[in-house]
Amino acid sequence: MTADTAPGETTKSFEADVARLLHLMVHSVYSDKDVFLRELVSNAADACEKLRFEAIATPELLSAGGEPLITLTIDPSARTLTVEDNGIGMTEGEMVEALGTIARSGTRAFMDRMAEEAKGGESRLIGQFGVGFYSAFMVADRVDVVSRRAGGDTAARWSSDGLGTFTVGAADPAEAPPRGTRVTLHVKEDAGTYLEPHVIEETVRAQSGHVPVPIALKTAPD
Ligand code: ADP
Ligand code: MG
Repeated sequence: MTADTAPGETTKSFEADVARLLHLMVHSVYSDKDVFLRELVSNAADACEKLRFEAIATPELLSAGGEPLITLTIDPSARTLTVEDNGIGMTEGEMVEALGTIARSGTRAFMDRMAEEAKGGESRLIGQFGVGFYSAFMVADRVDVVSRRAGGDTAARWSSDGLGTFTVGAADPAEAPPRGTRVTLHVKEDAGTYLEPHVIEETVRAQSGHVPVPIALKTAPD
């Protein structure tokens, strides 16, 4: 347990393959770090799409949370960039599964190819595959996730510095989105460019132009 572990939180180790991938991300020499934003926005859009699908059978899931929206918020004084969606959300168990293991298709394919490639091929592979959520650690030295599953009264949180362990636990529902997921990146010293609104705006335009969910950009405090 780390010193700042709150009551009711547990600390878990990443699967060995995730730890390896994270090491790559944290020490990335990959120059096109912009891809992290494409990955987080695409997860947010996927979450909205999953909600739309589940709501066909269960329309009450749409009762709180409004029209599908992805909100990017920059807080220069806190040095955070937040990607929030009002999609399907995750329970604590789903967070452990989705953000602690490597069962997912794109990441698995990436790791398989890594095993075949000569040392040094990883930069090219990151560009080719897009390695999802973990790419956040190219630009952040801590990532916090707070989520509320659509229709749920409770909320959960996940936090990691990408160095081998993560914590999960219950979150105060009052601090969670009414529905969906908030991913907060604590931006690294050398990645301050991602705290500039015009950089985020241009990156979104370049990388996420075809996302089927509206994207709002805010600067805190609003
Ligand atoms: P992929 O999107 O290829 O599955 P990622 O690493 O990008 O891989 O994401 C891993 C998993 O984490 C997703 O499949 C999803 O289950 C979960 N996840 C990530 N971001 C979100 C989000 N914003 N809302 C709901 N689930 C999410
Ligand atoms: Mg993804």
